[in-house]
Order: sequence, then structure tokens, then C-alpha cells
Amino acid sequence: MSNESGSPVPANLIADLAAASRILAAQGVVDGFGHVSLRHPTASDRYLMARSVAPALVTPDDIIEYDLDSNPVNANGRASFIERFIHGEIYKARPDIQSVVHSHSPSVIPFGLVGVPLQAMFHTAAFIAAGVPVFNIREKFGPTDMLVSNREKGVVLASVMGGKNVVLMRAHGSVACGPTLQTAVFRAVYTEVNARIQHWTMALKGGATIAALDPEEGRLADAINQTAAMRAWELWRKGVRDEVNW
Ligand SMILES: [Zn+2]
Repeated sequence: MSNESGSPVPANLIADLAAASRILAAQGVVDGFGHVSLRHPTASDRYLMARSVAPALVTPDDIIEYDLDSNPVNANGRASFIERFIHGEIYKARPDIQSVVHSHSPSVIPFGLVGVPLQAMFHTAAFIAAGVPVFNIREKFGPTDMLVSNREKGVVLASVMGGKNVVLMRAHGSVACGPTLQTAVFRAVYTEVNARIQHWTMALKGGATIAALDPEEGRLADAINQTAAMRAWELWRKGVRDEVNW
């Protein structure tokens, strides 16, 4: 018996979501782990995400529909990601968000460890200028396996993220979100690139202050980026299409 939303998802959207996993792998944002989801286009109380599989291997047949409590509704024996609650709880808390990426991308990790804020080093990463909070799972839950493996942990993560579009997870990774799949992927990629540039900048700066984008510059540049993100997407998407023919 199925509890599917009954609203069929266009095949091109399913293919784009599967392609997004492969793009994030090709860009070094995800490796054997990490996941990207998309809110259902016509049933806002549902989201779509691959079964538990390495992101570079995802195909359209791997996409499962979930309710916002992160129960799979059409799994048909396919296994789910343990950390799917990140996605469901963010969709509940943020009606403006249509897509969520969770990764352990390496350059970002140090900023969740040492209390140095991530700042927007260049215009492409303008979304970071709004501020990037850090979710420390130990504050509320004590010693854990570090995973957001149930709704309760997802709720706290979403509340720490608040109205921002990126949140770091102490000693674990990060989450990047957006109003479209393309923007969420773009932000996940450029969170990692920005972190790398910030490491170089901090090594270079000596006693200087970092002339990062301020919040107003960030707001203005981010508005442009949301259209520019499509150019990067088309480049990345073509790479996947050439490889797999979907
Ligand atoms: Zn994780």
C-alpha cells in the first residue's frame, strides 16, 4: 500500500535531482556521504531524495518521496539516509526553502570547530554575508554519534539555522539551502570554495582585518547570483547528461 502524495513529479525534475547528487560529488562537496533533496513541486508537505546510496551513483530510479516527518511513502524496500531528518525539519520550519544539501565538505569543517565565523570572501559566496550559525549537537543532546538521526535533532538544527541559508554542524559538516534546487547546489559548492579562500586569506592577512562582503553587499550580490547560478548549473548539468544520457 502506498501513501504517495498522488501528485506525479515530472521526470525532468526527478532527473535534475539525481543529477544534482552527481554534480555535488564532481564538485568535491559530497563523497561517499552527503545528500540533496527537493521539496515536492505540487505537494509542499512532501520532499524527494535518493535512497541511501553514494551521491555519484544516484539515478532517477533511486528517488524516494518522504512526508515532512521524513517517513518514506514509496520506498518499496529501498533504504533511507539516516540523516534525512535534516531535510524534513528544515522544510517544516522554512516554507521559503525548496531544496536542501547536507555535506561534510572538508574546508568548511574548521569553522565549526574554533569559533572563527565564516565570512563572505567574494561575491559568488554573497549568501554567507548574512551570517552562518553553528549547530553544536552536544549543547542539547550531550555526547552522541554526531548524526542528525531523528526528528528532535532535526528540529534543533533547523532552529539554530533560523532564517539563514547555511548552517555549520560542529565536527560534522554543513547544510546549504535555497529557493530552488539550482540555488541550493550553487550555495553548497560555493560554501566549500569560500571556506578554502578564507583559509588562504587568514594565512595571508597577518594583523590586517579581512575586508569581507558586509550584509548589505551580500544581499545585493546574492540577488544577482540567484540568476547567475543557472549558468553554473547548465554547465554542471551538461556534464552529467553527457555521462549518463538523462
Ligand atoms: Zn552528515
